[in-house]
Amino acid sequence: MNSENRNEIAAELRSLFNAISPFFEKHTSKVCPFCKKVCCIKKHGQYNEEDIIVLTALNIDIPSFKLEGEDTAPCRFLTGKGCSLQRLIRPFQCTWYFCEPLHGSMLEDSSMTYNEFIDNFKKLVEIRRKLVDFDKNRK
Ligand code: SF4
Ligand code: SF4
Repeated sequence: MNSENRNEIAAELRSLFNAISPFFEKHTSKVCPFCKKVCCIKKHGQYNEEDIIVLTALNIDIPSFKLEGEDTAPCRFLTGKGCSLQRLIRPFQCTWYFCEPLHGSMLEDSSMTYNEFIDNFKKLVEIRRKLVDFDKNRK
């Protein structure tokens, strides 16, 4: 991969995030308001090395976040209306993780919509991996 391919892949990643987000939001908005053990805690809202590589490739500034405080404290990006960050900008584990109720709600959607979502999700994971590997290998 060269820099031109890298830019194309970054653009494809952006478009895949746009493709999967509405389905995610449709189901998190159904399930999360009734959650008894919200997963949006500080330790889940932190960026790792790969998140930083990807956001840099997408020319997105990493939102500032606090390292101090209990790991189980509410994530600083959590608001009364859910996460304040676009999905693309969140640490990837916030997209990678599906709790059972969320996955169950997705499965109740039409199989065509669900399958399309899963196909796009798999592509997104693959492309994100390519970007990360490209950046790690050129160091
Ligand atoms: S994704 Fe699952 S665990 Fe996290 S807040 Fe929503 S319902 Fe709760
Ligand atoms: S960044 Fe958003 S989705 Fe991720 S833990 Fe924080 S509030 Fe939740």
